[in-house]
Amino acid sequence: MQQKASSQKLPKSAPPHGPWKRVLLKISGEAFCKEGGHGIDAAETNALAETIKGVHEAGRQVAVVVGGGNIVRGAQMAETGINRSTADYMGMLATVINAVALQDALERLGIPTRVQTAISASQIAEPFIRRRAIRHLEKGRIVILAGGTGNPWMTTDTCAALRAHELGAEVLLKATKVDGVYTADPKKDAKAERFKRLTYLDVLNKKLKVMDATAISMAMERSLPILVFDMKKPGNVLRAVQGEDVGTLITND
Ligand code: UDP
Repeated sequence: MQQKASSQKLPKSAPPHGPWKRVLLKISGEAFCKEGGHGIDAAETNALAETIKGVHEAGRQVAVVVGGGNIVRGAQMAETGINRSTADYMGMLATVINAVALQDALERLGIPTRVQTAISASQIAEPFIRRRAIRHLEKGRIVILAGGTGNPWMTTDTCAALRAHELGAEVLLKATKVDGVYTADPKKDAKAERFKRLTYLDVLNKKLKVMDATAISMAMERSLPILVFDMKKPGNVLRAVQGEDVGTLITND
């Protein structure tokens, strides 16, 4: 099918501090369950959908990469003796389950969505097609990206950086349990301070546990800003896309 030329236009590059029009939101699997839990918790999933609805209603284009760690983490599963690549494919399938759960929750709120997956699941999701994903975003649909990169030995963080480049997202919003990157674990150390800004090289050199090194390097290549923030704090996602001072912003300088 012939695509309209206009449908492939990406947003003009935005300042590294926001506000951002097209965002790539990375949600880890753990956001789908209660802290320390496993599987899918309906209330947590509905809350995620409500939060994404707020960003959608603020006129932002949102692509969501979902993780699968609440169901299967390949590296951990491999410790039980399962072949690592097989375990990783299981992990990718787990992300499809989360994606469909999120789609259902969003559609119950009346938000149009499409799930695209990097591994075939043709009965429930479209395959990942970059140009089609961009078109969905332009039409105001939330695009939920499942199946990671489709390759074992990789993570959904790396997938998030890759898809952000492909879809022309202006920022990678990395939702975490704490509001940004801290000098120490803020849940254990009352003196821990939040870094407001970091460079990609700070993260790599200090081995800060933000995202895996492949994801950071990939973001660095195109100076894609990464904002690490707490998505469960009320109003935080909206503040994040508006470029307000939440979380930790990672850029080149
Ligand atoms: N995975 C993979 N390739 C990818 C993305 C994910 O093999 O491109 C597998 C890997 O086993 C990983 C699991 O899927 O542990 C779930 O993804 P991830 O651990 O990134 O999820 P999160 O920690 O964000 O919940």
